[in-house]
Amino acid sequence: MTVVLVINSGSSSLKYQLIDMATESTLASGLIERIGGERAAIAHRAAGEKHEREAVIVDHDAAFVAMLRNFAEHGPSLDDHAPAAVGHRVVQGGRRFFGPTVVDDAVEGDIEELIPLAPLHNGPNLAGIRAARRVFDDIPHVAVFDTAFHTTMSDASSLYAIDREVAEKYRIRKYGAHGTSHKYVSEATAEHLGRPLEEVRTVVMHIGNGASVCAVDGGRSVETSMGMTPLEGLVMGSRSGDIDPAVLFHLHRKAGYDVPALDRLLNRESGLLGLTGTNDVRDVTRRIAEGDEIAETGMAVYVHRLRHYLGSYLVALGGADAIAWTAGVGENSAEVRRRTLEGLEWLGIELDHERNETRADGIREISTDASRVRVLIVPTNEELEIARQSLEATGLAG
Ligand code: AMP
Repeated sequence: MTVVLVINSGSSSLKYQLIDMATESTLASGLIERIGGERAAIAHRAAGEKHEREAVIVDHDAAFVAMLRNFAEHGPSLDDHAPAAVGHRVVQGGRRFFGPTVVDDAVEGDIEELIPLAPLHNGPNLAGIRAARRVFDDIPHVAVFDTAFHTTMSDASSLYAIDREVAEKYRIRKYGAHGTSHKYVSEATAEHLGRPLEEVRTVVMHIGNGASVCAVDGGRSVETSMGMTPLEGLVMGSRSGDIDPAVLFHLHRKAGYDVPALDRLLNRESGLLGLTGTNDVRDVTRRIAEGDEIAETGMAVYVHRLRHYLGSYLVALGGADAIAWTAGVGENSAEVRRRTLEGLEWLGIELDHERNETRADGIREISTDASRVRVLIVPTNEELEIARQSLEATGLAG
């Protein structure tokens, strides 16, 4: 049995999943939250049971000790299911990492060097890698970058129209994000259609609390809506997405907003939350049904931006074979999918309303049988994709 341990390390959290690669099934998963806080919440799922406790977890090293204790107490035993590799999610790979990379000290150094481009993410990702390498010191560790899938984008789609020297000096360009999910979903879509990946053009709608659209042509990302950071693009749970940059000058001059205040406003207090007071599409949808006009307007702005990107990416691809919805909103909100695809029959996009409203597990089609563009729901699985890429990078894949 080949087993891979997948690690997603945030600033105050550690998520893990142990995956059996023969069946691509999860043997155990866990989440340790509030690392460095007064009491950390520790959860471990294995064999259909959830085990929870609280403890003081001072740093990522301590979090790994807690994870090992979870496996020892609740199983499966890591002696019987020893991981062949550890796969780590890393958000920013810059123009340095184009695919999954086996970690050594030099790679750690390069990830550290990229911290200024993703200050909230790469530091915690690296802390997780360092702690994991201390605990599992005799197996390969692989860094899987969220940006890597988008390194196929052309200069035309990834350069910003600012002074070239300034852009180069400060490495300002579109890197995109959610790449691991966009790759997984576009490949699963081609497989579902029963067509070679090279021939399939897909618009992937990864719509969760964070959200991005990606135009995938023959397995290659050609456009994506997140930018140098995850702030650009769609209206998200609490991020504004696209905005006239002069709004920031205005808020600074007229209202005295400094950089931390602007950062907080656009990243944490905007999007659906800013527009409606809640970042959860379920609440917004319920309020719309009750006749709440603020919720209706918020949803209208949200959907308008989705349609803007969908239209743009259909042009970029010269038409599409499929539109694939994924992540929390994409997989679950019939309302968002219906509003986004409404009136697009002239483009060959025909939603089957009954299929769209029917809840089910797994990959499924929600377009009519006559629809030229197939519309799918494809549950994403970033952990599995990280595990697959980790095995590939170590040469352990079959
Ligand atoms: P994610 O970031 O992918 O975990 O997505 C989380 C978001 O998905 C939540 O904030 C909700 O807005 C949305 N969501 C989750 N479940 C549902 C549902 N049943 N209907 C509509 N939206 C949902």
